[in-house]
Amino acid sequence: MNITDTHCHLLSSPLYENLDNIIERAKSRGIDKFVVVTENFEESIKALELSERYKGVIFAAAGLFPTNLDLLEALKIADFIKKNRKKIVAIGEVGLDHWKIKDEKERKLQREIFEIFVELAIELNLPLNIHSRSAGKVTIELLIAKGAEKVQMHAFDGSFSSAKKGIDAGFFFSVPPSIVRSNQKQKLFRRMPIENILLESDAPALAPEAGDINEPANILFALEYLGYLKKLEIEEMVAKISKNTQKLYGELNADI
Ligand SMILES: [Zn+2]
Repeated sequence: MNITDTHCHLLSSPLYENLDNIIERAKSRGIDKFVVVTENFEESIKALELSERYKGVIFAAAGLFPTNLDLLEALKIADFIKKNRKKIVAIGEVGLDHWKIKDEKERKLQREIFEIFVELAIELNLPLNIHSRSAGKVTIELLIAKGAEKVQMHAFDGSFSSAKKGIDAGFFFSVPPSIVRSNQKQKLFRRMPIENILLESDAPALAPEAGDINEPANILFALEYLGYLKKLEIEEMVAKISKNTQKLYGELNADI
């Protein structure tokens, strides 16, 4: 099996300190490529370094986590992405978070920052790797209004009906290992066409057991649960999902 973890935080503790072990354990279960998303400027630089150290295995995204309401930092990251366009595979983790950010003024700034990244992704033809906590519908509507086409909604926390416009627009939705304990995700992915599905760990968050430290190897739990929902064999599903991953990210190889 060749599975890509399309959203993980390998720069976060304690994964970063145990990176070789974490990667070996994932590889032994068929997960052999990792898209590392970032939360700030400093991490974006580090992700790029990691992608050079682990060529063909780790791929760097760059972004500003949506609760970091720092316009200057956003502009710095945007500039960094432009300068390193060829070595970066996605813009993320970016998006809207209405769960933590409740103040209207702050939400406005969050949206402004998000729009910078959406416009940049379209300009550079890069996929967007998106967080949309308690803001699924409005995030999808913004993306469609802006004309974004290469989109991954990560750990989408809304209903199938709020995902519907995104599904119709050809957006991808990635399944984390926490699907085994999340009623909302089980309901969502039962109805989601397999053509729109990707796999992610979101490690160290969203483990199969609440509160555990997650790691990419746990993607197998998501895969097994999905097989049960879709009544498909694991190999068949991996083949389909690999196709989806390639559609969004292109060939992820050592030339990047
Ligand atoms: Zn994340």
